[in-house]
Amino acid sequence: MAVGRREGADPDAAAGPAPDALPRDRLLLAAMQTSPDAFVVLDHEDRVEWWNRAAERLFGWTLDEAVGRYLTDLVVPEQYRTAHHEGLLRRASGGEPRLGAAPVQVEAVCRDGSRILVELSVGELEWDGGPRFHAFIRDVTDREAARSALELSENRSRMVFENAPVGMLLTEVGDGAFGRVISANPAAARMLGWTRDELRGRAYGDLTHHDDRHLDRRMVPLLLAGELDKLEYEKRCVGRDGREVWVASSATVVRDLDGSPIHSIHQLMDISERRSAAQQLVRLNEELRQANEGLAAANAELDGFTAAVAHDLKNPLMAILMHAHLLAESEDGRAVGRRAADAITRGATRMNSLIEGLLLYARAEGAELDRTSVDVDTMVCDIVRELSVVADRPVRVTREELPSLSVEPVLFRQVVANVLGNGVKYVAPGVAPRVHVSAHKDPVTDDWTLRFADNGIGIAPESRERVFDVFHRETTDYPGTGIGLAICRRVVERHGGKIWIEPGPDGGSVVHVRMPCE
Ligand code: ADP
Repeated sequence: MAVGRREGADPDAAAGPAPDALPRDRLLLAAMQTSPDAFVVLDHEDRVEWWNRAAERLFGWTLDEAVGRYLTDLVVPEQYRTAHHEGLLRRASGGEPRLGAAPVQVEAVCRDGSRILVELSVGELEWDGGPRFHAFIRDVTDREAARSALELSENRSRMVFENAPVGMLLTEVGDGAFGRVISANPAAARMLGWTRDELRGRAYGDLTHHDDRHLDRRMVPLLLAGELDKLEYEKRCVGRDGREVWVASSATVVRDLDGSPIHSIHQLMDISERRSAAQQLVRLNEELRQANEGLAAANAELDGFTAAVAHDLKNPLMAILMHAHLLAESEDGRAVGRRAADAITRGATRMNSLIEGLLLYARAEGAELDRTSVDVDTMVCDIVRELSVVADRPVRVTREELPSLSVEPVLFRQVVANVLGNGVKYVAPGVAPRVHVSAHKDPVTDDWTLRFADNGIGIAPESRERVFDVFHRETTDYPGTGIGLAICRRVVERHGGKIWIEPGPDGGSVVHVRMPCE
């Protein structure tokens, strides 16, 4: 193709007359002028022979100014000029292979010095014994800027996805539900114990714990329908090894231009530790509450104990004071004095036993539990022998085979002695006391329960617990301090056991002492 100079205002004429005036050439020329891309024709030495209006607009040089000048000087940036020029000359002399039509991107400079990025599609043809070059040149500055901006933004998103500390999943959506996983980030893979490849293609629903799937079933249709912007809740996921992973999950939807959902993006934050810390806090609070309750009960017991001590020690003390006063005031010293001295002795003796009882009670709490194996049978025999010595009537204690127990021997002896002593003591006047001692082993726990069944006066149902309180006495018809059973309960409970009283089948009481298997 040949081209001519621009003349006049007629667009066709402006392109110059076609050498052979063929309508097809004129048509081509007109097409060149209306092309949105710049079109340049060069001679074999790189001089501009012709360029179209788009080239004028693009580079700022008019056709007249451009024609005859080296393209290199007009539009090639300084630093590339030599290489460009020499390359073209080498091609023109046949030293370089024929230029291909594939577009290349190069930097160009405009008349005003501004730099632009252009896409160059070069062609060549033989004419007049030498090569002629022609090229379409398209300004791709904006396109490339947009492409780099998009690439940058995609890179940023990829970086966020790859390096996020929270698990992220991209999933399909469809049929009102989340579909298969398209992509998972490393944090999600770590959290759930799968590799990223294993996660890809897995149904999102399968990753949620069976008992928590109802949340997604209810909420996802609302999200996909656009009634909710995002879903946020805490739920359990299932890891590869089947373990539960508590996550705070957040799901949003990516829509196409019509607003139809195409993907969903899930963020999963592992809150297992937070939840177990919270559960531990609840547990600790409960323990604290129970400890407080125990403390309150202990305080109440202490209050009752103090009141009982004050009351029970005051009685004999008042008797001591009164009789000491009588003794001091008495004119007829002898008779009154003897009576008063007797009463003083009684009061002081009682106070002494109360104080000793209290000391035993305190020791039962503080003493070390140095357990050894104790043969209960021998222990019962010894105690019965002692009881028979002090009792004013015959004592009959029968027993079945009794076990050996691992207990603190001194403290446990107090328990057996108190219980046996009470069995012998609390019988109606004129009745010969009888106590039967037996033992029963729990086949499941191996715990032993000792039973002391007496033929005594029995204890009213409402008092069967109260008798274990310090100083509580059901009757003052019998000697005693009301401390014995309180000591028994302390000792048994310190061994991890239990003591309680039930009525006997033929009247009387049965004291049960259950001791845990060691
Ligand atoms: P004490 O025998 O010194 O009064 P305890 O603490 O051993 O003190 O007993 C408290 C109270 O329980 C007794 O005062 C008595 O009323 C009642 N009790 C204890 N054991 C028996 C029993 N085997 N039969 C009837 N009552 C009993």
